[in-house]
Amino acid sequence: MAKGAIVVGAGPVGLMLAGELRLGGVDVVVYDKLPAPSGESRGLGFTSRTAEVLDQRGLLTELGDFRWGQHGHFGGVRIDFTLLEESHFGVMGLPQSRTEQLLGDWVARLGVPVHRGCEVTGFEETDDGVLVRYDGPEGPSEDSARYLIGCDGGRSTVRRLAGIAFTGDAATRGMYLADVTGAGIRPRPIGERVEGGGMVLSVGLGDGYDRIVIHEPGIRPHHGEGTLTFTEVADAWQRLTGESIHHGQTRWMTALTNATGLAERYRSGRVLLAGDAAHDHAPLGAQGVSVGLQDAVNLGWKLAATINGWAPEGLLDTYHAERHPLGEQLLRNVHAQSLLYLSGQEMEPLRAVMRELVQIPDAARYLAGQVSGLHIRYDVGAGEHPLLGLRLPPQRELVRAGGTAVRVADLLHGARGVLISTGDPATAEKTAAGWSDRVDVVTGTWSEDGGPEAVLLRPDGHVVWTAPDGGEPHDALTRWFGTATT
Ligand SMILES: Cc1cc2nc3c(=O)[nH]c(=O)nc-3n(C[C@H](O)[C@H](O)[C@H](O)COP(=O)(O)OP(=O)(O)OC[C@H]3O[C@@H](n4cnc5c(N)ncnc54)[C@H](O)[C@@H]3O)c2cc1C
Repeated sequence: MAKGAIVVGAGPVGLMLAGELRLGGVDVVVYDKLPAPSGESRGLGFTSRTAEVLDQRGLLTELGDFRWGQHGHFGGVRIDFTLLEESHFGVMGLPQSRTEQLLGDWVARLGVPVHRGCEVTGFEETDDGVLVRYDGPEGPSEDSARYLIGCDGGRSTVRRLAGIAFTGDAATRGMYLADVTGAGIRPRPIGERVEGGGMVLSVGLGDGYDRIVIHEPGIRPHHGEGTLTFTEVADAWQRLTGESIHHGQTRWMTALTNATGLAERYRSGRVLLAGDAAHDHAPLGAQGVSVGLQDAVNLGWKLAATINGWAPEGLLDTYHAERHPLGEQLLRNVHAQSLLYLSGQEMEPLRAVMRELVQIPDAARYLAGQVSGLHIRYDVGAGEHPLLGLRLPPQRELVRAGGTAVRVADLLHGARGVLISTGDPATAEKTAAGWSDRVDVVTGTWSEDGGPEAVLLRPDGHVVWTAPDGGEPHDALTRWFGTATT
């Protein structure tokens, strides 16, 4: 029997997805064209919701030392996150290579094979699966699985071969990014605008290096490494700040553009896309890793359910239905942020309006939620409860019989559904008995007031049913977890 899934790309998203599928009991394999992890650290942390998602799998504590962000902003317009009820601060200054190492160690523990030095070059759909061709260390070879997932980055081969259109805005602005040491650069963590439309940003990386990003109206949009010299970067920095960093050294630099792209469909038959393969944008909002990891956590259990044969009708298609609008929103927000960040004096009236708006708690909460990912609410059907479709805050505690407190995050480590009930344990067990192979039942009392009487969580931590106002629990269990076993 063919394996369940082939994931193309061992970047953060491919690794996260492979781990999710494995937790769902799927035989999965990952192929990556690079012979070893690149060690590059494009991303420098992740959003608050992504930290929660890693916490839900027990991975956050394995990161070792990391620091939370200190500054809230939307396109450089400061938002005072400390005034909001819950923390919207994400993890800052954490090299992407460490996130990838964490996920790589996790999938290794779960027993997922990651074949490196294998470039996927073609595939064809068969009646019951996908035949994938790749060039590996021993030459051309093939593998097959029931589903193929392209997590192969912004220039995705899988997307191209699947014929999925990728549309967006062409590049109109150029930026430089460099990791610099020995130049005594002062921190500018949310960026500083410079008269005439320039912007400079600098964040300490904690290892003696500073990440700098430079936008100067004269910088032509061009891609990639290799063509840029440190002198060009240092000259631009000096023109904008008056400071010379020419005596510093760099270990990595690259030129960026503000081009964007969004896959028209996240699924085409047995082929799916996640991460940068599905949505690609300039790193101004620092969201690429985060949105991609959340794609993976949305998709993993649904695809596992489909492969395992218990997925209710249409479950897999909710991946596109739920995540594609968020991809659109991401690109729109990055565009809006880049206009605020990178435009000149002509944008000042709008920035002033934004500064006033973020004094209004609801507006601040709305924008903070867009930046942190805590705003994500999926359409999970009718119902009145304010939590419906949102994530249940994973730090909430349930006190179990015997007095042990357990966090919601800890209940989700196995990537299974969870029915939490504050009522009679025997009744709760009986309610979900037909789904006991897919849904865990946990009973107790909330350690703080205000928790729902009962709540059904999907494996990604989103609320799909609450009591007493959510109707029959069987309907929600069937809608999300399929037919009950007898
Ligand atoms: C300069 C820069 C700075 C950034 N800063 C941030 C930031 O601060 N915060 C943030 O969240 N994001 C940032 N990003 C974006 C972030 O790096 C990406 O969103 C993230 O890496 C996407 O992960 P992914 O797994 O989808 O794709 P990738 O990380 O691109 O991984 C794709 C993998 O697929 C493999 N692959 C490609 N084609 C094939 C093939 N045909 N066969 C087999 N393997 C293949 C590649 O080798 C690679 O390992 C930045 C990006 C850039 C360029």
